[in-house]
Amino acid sequence: MPPKMQKPVLLVALGGNALIRKGQTGTLSEQFENLAVPVRQIARLTPLYKIIITHGNAPQVGSLLLQQESCPAVPKLPLEILVAQTQGWLGYMIESTLDSGLMELGSPSHPLVSLISYVVVDPADPAFSAPTKPIGPVYRRKKDAPSGYPLVKTPKGYRRAVVSPRPVTIVEKREIRRLVEEDFIVICCGGGGIPVIREGRAFSGVDAVIDKDLASAKLAEEVGVDTFVIATDVPGAALDYGSERERFLKTVSLERAIRYLAAGHFPDGSMGPKVEACIQFLKTGGKRAVITSVDAIEKGLEGNTGTQFFLSVP
Ligand code: ADP
Ligand code: MG
Repeated sequence: MPPKMQKPVLLVALGGNALIRKGQTGTLSEQFENLAVPVRQIARLTPLYKIIITHGNAPQVGSLLLQQESCPAVPKLPLEILVAQTQGWLGYMIESTLDSGLMELGSPSHPLVSLISYVVVDPADPAFSAPTKPIGPVYRRKKDAPSGYPLVKTPKGYRRAVVSPRPVTIVEKREIRRLVEEDFIVICCGGGGIPVIREGRAFSGVDAVIDKDLASAKLAEEVGVDTFVIATDVPGAALDYGSERERFLKTVSLERAIRYLAAGHFPDGSMGPKVEACIQFLKTGGKRAVITSVDAIEKGLEGNTGTQFFLSVP
């Protein structure tokens, strides 16, 4: 294909709620049903874009932690192994749902692959000195939470806190780039990637989790993504979220995004890393980032909904 006929590269980061919606217990049939909503849209986008999919895993890691705690006979596994487990679990679910979506459209079989992905973190990252990232179930009272883990108080209640260092580089970036060039749909960096520390040519896993939005922005930078969509459970990013003055943003320039983030409109652990990821993406050469809801990925890409981030806004 001549270069100008090449499809642009699209990265879609799916939030944990793409599988388990608020108020659901998260049975497997609920998860498959929920996943079909974003994935059918992604299937329809395959003629237009080369596609990379990343995903969150917080509810799934939360349930694996609960499972392993309820069976003292089995040795406990560190977070890096739980992240690897969820990459396999969700990679399988996304791949099979996407394959069915493509078949429903009558598309010829499209190559898909889900990749176990490592993400390098820095052992000197100050995050290692304090666990701050909430994961897993919410406990109304402190005493209801299982013991042996640090807790963090969130607006909804107490949750476990884990260490969350920043992504430095995606280990499989070259492989991902090659697969994308070949028009494979690549599912990677699930749950922010398996956190590893590099020691020469060797990597060793660490008991931590990386934010999937920040890992996605790093992936976008290293692979060369044109458009970055973050799909979550709200229509976009809002100023004064949750207050009477709440207003969802339609179009935001890089400069304004930086200003609103600094002014505290987007909290850590939820909308904060999403807006930060959009800022990183634009700063490292991305053209447009969109935060939209999982059921409005196509509309968000058309520019008709969600929060659209550009380098500058006329
Ligand atoms: P995901 O699983 O998709 O990463 P998160 O729960 O991490 O989702 O982030 C989305 C949540 O961010 C929304 O459900 C919303 O409650 C919360 N949120 C916090 N501040 C804002 C804001 N300023 N605008 C929109 N949503 C916000
Ligand atoms: Mg999140």
